[in-house]
Amino acid sequence: TGTTTIEIDSSVFKGSIPVPTGLFIDGKWVDPVEPDMIDIINPGILLDFSSLYLINAISLHSDRQEDRCGGSWFLQGCGHRSQGRGKGSKRGKLLTRLADLLERDIDQLAALESINTGKPLAFAKARDMARTIECIRYFGGWADKVHGKTIESNENKLAYTRHEPYGVVGQIIPWNSPILMMSWKVGPALATGNCIVLKPSEMTPLTALKFAELIVEAGFPPGVVNVVTGYGMTVGQAISEHMQISKVAFTGSTLVGRKILEASARSNLKVVTLELGGKSPTVIFDDCNLDQTIKWATQAMYGNMGQSCVAGSRIFVQEGIYPQFIEKFTAMVKDLGQATGDPFAPTTRHGPQASQVQFDRIMGYIASGKESGATVHIGGNRHGTEGYFIQPTIFTDCTPDMKIVKEEIFGPVAVVLKFKTEEEVIEAANATDYGLSACVFSENVGRALRVAHAFESGSTFVNSAQLIEASIPFGGYKASGIGREQGEYALETYTQVKAVHVNIGLVI
Ligand code: NAD
Repeated sequence: TGTTTIEIDSSVFKGSIPVPTGLFIDGKWVDPVEPDMIDIINPGILLDFSSLYLINAISLHSDRQEDRCGGSWFLQGCGHRSQGRGKGSKRGKLLTRLADLLERDIDQLAALESINTGKPLAFAKARDMARTIECIRYFGGWADKVHGKTIESNENKLAYTRHEPYGVVGQIIPWNSPILMMSWKVGPALATGNCIVLKPSEMTPLTALKFAELIVEAGFPPGVVNVVTGYGMTVGQAISEHMQISKVAFTGSTLVGRKILEASARSNLKVVTLELGGKSPTVIFDDCNLDQTIKWATQAMYGNMGQSCVAGSRIFVQEGIYPQFIEKFTAMVKDLGQATGDPFAPTTRHGPQASQVQFDRIMGYIASGKESGATVHIGGNRHGTEGYFIQPTIFTDCTPDMKIVKEEIFGPVAVVLKFKTEEEVIEAANATDYGLSACVFSENVGRALRVAHAFESGSTFVNSAQLIEASIPFGGYKASGIGREQGEYALETYTQVKAVHVNIGLVI
């Protein structure tokens, strides 16, 4: 199998990075059964097609039924290894070594992530890579601390539980924060002794392929982690329908999440955990610390160009502070817009959207907002005349029935709504099918906590936003997902509980 060489000339890394283009199966790089090619683009370059990178992708043809789901070729070497998970301390050591290798290659990986997604390099390094390393190291620490319980029954009985791995788990990840999402999936699965078949997004496979190389270097046995590139409709579906895969963990859209649940129902009723979309509220009361609140609200909304499942995209502002909020928020968003540019430039804080599809989708939402009578307070256009850059945008005069208020935009577009009372804003904040994240800003601790508890949401932040950590569970209420990733809670979603009943004296 081949490699493709990515030339990087950035402030943190300069040089060539060879990226393997095959599939990583059973510790080896192999060719796809039916090879296909996929264009991997650098969204930071203004439509300069000479600098597109081509990556080999696996694309299993739908007419090859045996390849799609019956065939076990991508499980070679994976199934049998799941029989014995080895010592926890050994797994912990390997995960810790993997974290060290990720740290060693942080500049290279950050540059690769930036060039493939368009996210500013400084952000890729300080957020995505730092959290990736933290996550793998954190789960390395758990690997020898996964254990069951003994349960009191009677003098004639010993009862205990074992927390056993599923065996082979499938993992399907999106393009917005590829390596970080990979670490969230790989960390707990390996800590608990599972084997993995992971599919990165067809748009952003580069860091996943380098990650696979580091897995070899860290010393994991062949077949424990397998990385298969390809499209969702083929490879993703093959994973979700596979009879030998006992659990699938998915991060992506709610639409595809439903398809995965359906595929599980049609196949072997595999366990499915889902991390899906959001339309997260940021609720700002008159008594907040305004200067701090503005900074958090800006970061929560526009971080990663709004391509974040926890983006604080519905901003509710109490009427007393509304004029001051709008004035200061606008100034800060304007400042952010002025820091738009080449993702590799150290001064860039706002990069391009990740793809043409996303660019078109977001511009469609902006058009819909304008048509529905909302006011473009700032932004509302593409930045420049080429490429996928979109101005950070604020819509005011929004009403709850507008599409821009109801649907996830997944771009740098905020809707601001005014409110009067605590009761009213709780109802409005919860009036969505989603429930991933929510923020409240108030210096009144009683009110802040009341609202935080009233949010129908898997994560709530008080006087802060998006401070996601490896040790704290993350996941959605309602249509934002099933199950929790991160923290000790993630271990539960990668193990199944076996109860063992031992007779130590009962005679019948
Ligand atoms: P997507 O659902 O289109 O794709 C996600 C992954 O699923 C990709 O790897 C894709 O190839 C695969 N896929 C597509 N169709 C499939 C199918 N039929 N069967 C199996 N796999 C399939 O989502 P996206 O556009 O890549 O990502 C954006 C969405 O992800 C947003 O809605 C966002 O909110 C969500 N997201 C959620 C989180 C979270 O943690 N909750 C994190 C990041 C992104």
